[in-house]
Amino acid sequence: MDFSTVQDLVRVHGTPTLFLSESKVREGYRALKNALPGVDLYYAVKSNATPDLVSILNSEEAFFDICTNGEIDVINKYSIAPERCIHTHPIKRDSDIRYSLEYGISIFVCDNEDELLKFVPYKDKCSILIRMSIQNPGCLVNLSHKFGVAPEKAWNLISKAHSLGLDVLGISFHAGSQNENSLKYIEALEYCRDIYRKAVLRGINIRVIDIGGGFPINYISPVIPIEQFCSPIMEYLERYFSSYRIIAEPGRVLSGPTMTLATKVMGRSLRNDVWWYYLDDGLYGSFSGKMYDHADYPMVVERGGPRYNSVLAGPTCDSIDVVYENISLPHLEIGDLLVFNSMGSYTCASASNFNGFPKAKIVVVD
Ligand SMILES: *Cc1c(COP(=O)(O)O)cnc(C)c1O
Repeated sequence: MDFSTVQDLVRVHGTPTLFLSESKVREGYRALKNALPGVDLYYAVKSNATPDLVSILNSEEAFFDICTNGEIDVINKYSIAPERCIHTHPIKRDSDIRYSLEYGISIFVCDNEDELLKFVPYKDKCSILIRMSIQNPGCLVNLSHKFGVAPEKAWNLISKAHSLGLDVLGISFHAGSQNENSLKYIEALEYCRDIYRKAVLRGINIRVIDIGGGFPINYISPVIPIEQFCSPIMEYLERYFSSYRIIAEPGRVLSGPTMTLATKVMGRSLRNDVWWYYLDDGLYGSFSGKMYDHADYPMVVERGGPRYNSVLAGPTCDSIDVVYENISLPHLEIGDLLVFNSMGSYTCASASNFNGFPKAKIVVVD
């Protein structure tokens, strides 16, 4: 969103505010659909559970990837059909499984034997995806550190699930979030080919492959266009998996570009020759993604003139609440507006009310 548009909106809505662009949600969803033709896109609600965002994606006929009872409640608010949802948390309590089944969601993810055993009482009502780990130290967030069975052990787990009488739908994996290397998907798919071949020989009726999320977006440095990024993945899928249903769990690529943050300078102080600017949003709020998601967001400041070594700090009384240090900025005035783009993923999702500062308001525009 450009600066003057945000300026006009701020006159009405104040700061801190996250502006959710409805047209960007629709454009982003359609662009990914186009880049992954025939692939069913399950939006990873974890990345941003804002009800308006879920509702817009629902009107685009998206599918949904949920992990918790709280996320089921968001889905329920819009009466989204359970057949359009999968439950992807690899570790669940019995009560979580029952909550999900009561809503009608019947596809679950497991990555170990203990978890498989939890499904034996419900085996006639559900199908299982086996989550495989794919190590990717090169991306922003490695989602295989905590979950996933090693590729060499995935076949044993599938075979175990089958012998327990569970319906194994197929394999899921997450190639790492903000993953700029599409060969990581191919690496995972190579393992899947081997495993699926064994399954066919054993007469296990595998029907699905779930390529997860991870698709990258533009932050400070641009990434390759999504169609180009996806084309080697599509080529591989068409060559080797044409008879399977292909699904994906995109989070960031759908939610990330859709929100723009407007925040203002509340106060300033010259400390040891460095200008400190205190913003009305910080690490405990919309910038929580700096902490947990390791993301850096593109910033727009309107003011010109000479630049000085500066610090942008959040509003709370905690010293850790510093958004940018050693940043070169023009001399800002109290009340100046700062605009940050690509603020839709893992931002408001992990924000808190720490120290009594309310989270940024969310306003739908376009
Ligand atoms: C977080 C998560 C996603 C979304 O990942 P992105 O990198 O945001 O696309 C998808 N699937 C699972 C299981 C996740 O935990």
